Amino acid sequence: MEGTMKAVLKKNLDRGVAIEEIPIPQINDDEVLLKVRAAGICGSDVHMFEGAASYKIFERFFPLVMGHEFCGDIVEIGKDVTTVKPGDRVISRVAHSCGDCHYCRSDRMHFCADAFTRIIGLQKNGGFAEYIAINQQSCILMPDSISYELGALVEPLGVTGNAVADSGLTLGETVVIQGPGPIGLLTLLHAKARGAGKTIVIGTSKDKIRLEQAKAFDADHIIIADQEDPVEAVKSLTGGYGADIVFEASGVPQLIQTALNMVDKTGRVVLEGIYGSEGTVDFTPMVRSAKKLIGTYGGPISWERIIAWLGANSQYAKLPQQVITHRTTLDDAENAFERSVNKENIKELFIND
Ligand SMILES: [Zn+2]
Ligand SMILES: [Zn+2]
Repeated sequence: MEGTMKAVLKKNLDRGVAIEEIPIPQINDDEVLLKVRAAGICGSDVHMFEGAASYKIFERFFPLVMGHEFCGDIVEIGKDVTTVKPGDRVISRVAHSCGDCHYCRSDRMHFCADAFTRIIGLQKNGGFAEYIAINQQSCILMPDSISYELGALVEPLGVTGNAVADSGLTLGETVVIQGPGPIGLLTLLHAKARGAGKTIVIGTSKDKIRLEQAKAFDADHIIIADQEDPVEAVKSLTGGYGADIVFEASGVPQLIQTALNMVDKTGRVVLEGIYGSEGTVDFTPMVRSAKKLIGTYGGPISWERIIAWLGANSQYAKLPQQVITHRTTLDDAENAFERSVNKENIKELFIND
């Protein structure tokens, strides 16, 4: 397709983004042109907006169109494309795998060597634009029951579903979620769906609307960390022992130690935040109490399974109304990121009509 389109770009590591008119991408033979209909702002996009130190490794890909949580309509296909057609509604994977490397051959496609050279929104142009060219293998067909808004939530639902799977959560275990952003809230949903016992969500007084939604999702206890000591509060809610599992979803490196301090002996701390900088942990007490520190990044639950789960449980059709508090346009990107930094939103989407 000829012409230009609006896009949200990161051009350097300074705080902020650029909103520019750039050429509509030309597709390769194995690619499709997707008209982006809904694209969500992820916590990692917020780090990128702020120019976090850990994003320096992606500087060589700038100028880069941001965004990796999106879906839309196929408007054009390359001549070798056989799996999808114009008019199909699809969710885009974050990267497509080669099918042939060490990881692809051992059911860990999400660590494919090739995929890690072409992550959409980090190493390749992303979905904060009107159009994007993506490989046909990146397309996941959306059933009619999945709205565009719900489609844009499939990536964070995949991240959080896999975090809960990686935690090994078993029926009735006490779960703490530290950080009530979209990742924390969706982790709460998955933990409940998998049979968690008592659930405790920790935020700060800045997280008001996010903690209200945690309550609406039936969290048993809310802890405001700037009003009471969160470690003491978790201990007093767990007979003095600590939680079975703590999901660290704040992305604040100093809070990894806090999470370890509030988990029971032999308990698990699952790190699902992306950290803007390095953190430190006192390992000896962790070793002496056999606590487990688990990183999670993708995993056994495919996005297709997430779609199947959403489709089979009609209560999740209203998930967009519950967690998407703001819908805006690409022109408003600067404000949208500021709202995210200030935690005025839960999930915010860019919508293209
Ligand atoms: Zn994301
Ligand atoms: Zn591979």
